[in-house]
Amino acid sequence: MIDSSTSLLASQRHDIVRFAMGSPANEAVPIDLFREIASSRLGADSFTYGATEGEPELIDALVDYLSTTSEPTAHDRVVITAGGMQGLDLACKIFIDPGDLVVVESPTYTNGSATAASYGAELLEVPLDADGLVVDALPELVSAAGRTPKAIYVIPNFQNPSGTTLSAKRREMLVKLAHDWNCVIIDDDPYGLLRFSGEDVPGFQCISPLDPLIFSVRTFSKILAPGLRVGWVDVDPEIRQYVINAKQAMDTCTNVPAQQLVAEFIKRGYLSTHLERIRFVYSERKSAMKHSLMRSLGSRITITDPEGGFFLWLTLKGDDAAISSTALFEIALAEGVAFIPGAALSPSGRFDDSLRLCFAASTPSRIQTGVERLTRSLDLARRAPYPGGAERHGSLT
Ligand code: PMP
Repeated sequence: MIDSSTSLLASQRHDIVRFAMGSPANEAVPIDLFREIASSRLGADSFTYGATEGEPELIDALVDYLSTTSEPTAHDRVVITAGGMQGLDLACKIFIDPGDLVVVESPTYTNGSATAASYGAELLEVPLDADGLVVDALPELVSAAGRTPKAIYVIPNFQNPSGTTLSAKRREMLVKLAHDWNCVIIDDDPYGLLRFSGEDVPGFQCISPLDPLIFSVRTFSKILAPGLRVGWVDVDPEIRQYVINAKQAMDTCTNVPAQQLVAEFIKRGYLSTHLERIRFVYSERKSAMKHSLMRSLGSRITITDPEGGFFLWLTLKGDDAAISSTALFEIALAEGVAFIPGAALSPSGRFDDSLRLCFAASTPSRIQTGVERLTRSLDLARRAPYPGGAERHGSLT
């Protein structure tokens, strides 16, 4: 569904404000620095096979960089992957057998839940609130499911799509439940380094150090550039060997020139400065989106108020709650604004009254334009004879 929305979006030729894709802003990608590094670093050793676990220079640089953050790691825990998606795929390949129960947040990043489903998992959707996954609700839902989960898939910081952050207390409770059930926590955190306000919440690796049940998936896609396809997993050293074996059979090694670019970017000290700059940019954009939405649609919607990351989550209320965001998508596209309809972000198609909006990729003035177009689209949808017209626009699902 994310794919069908984005391919429909790609085929459009008119001006569209793009709140749909979770990509960094073009101007937030450090292209000049990449060019500079590529011309001096890439050479004969860039174009042969690399080590399956990753280029040693990248692992060294990454471990050094992470030692300056709240989530330090060690060389024998890291495997470089082809983005976060490969990390998720490896976790599911190693831990999930057909018929296993996997807990997912509701709403969730459906490419992540779909990966679990592709290994035969049965998904248990558990609600979120302003403090992230409602961990309290888990024991009852799990008991109703009749068996304990094999994995809990969670996006703890500035969750995709809701923008919410899992509270410290809930993280601790989740670790305890994972131990009771002997199930793995797939800790998918692409956005944690993009906090622009509030206080850091301790990560799972910090709450439960050296815990073999925590499988952490990270990526450079949001903090540097998604086209690099470079990410990493941070796992128990014994699990790491399974990851390396599985990755070897998948793609032998991650793209070597891309790893060298990232390694050099970190070694030259560019990453911290870059992160500071983009946190500031995204903070301004989040505020611009929040204020534009509240000005234009304040009484008709509720929105989340993320302290980092890329997304906020909008839920229609009152009479507007009857509008299908799936149907709204096509109206909005014609009006020149794109978003991801809520139903695309739940394996069972919940949240047809909600929208995921990416504030990261548009400037504040474009955000203002996009919100005006969204407001017009909602007005049109209210007047349309088929406000709940999801079936009419079935090509989207
Ligand atoms: N997990 C989450 C929560 C994401 O938002 C994304 C990217 N949208 C990914 C994983 C995949 O990351 P990558 O592009 O590095 O494969």
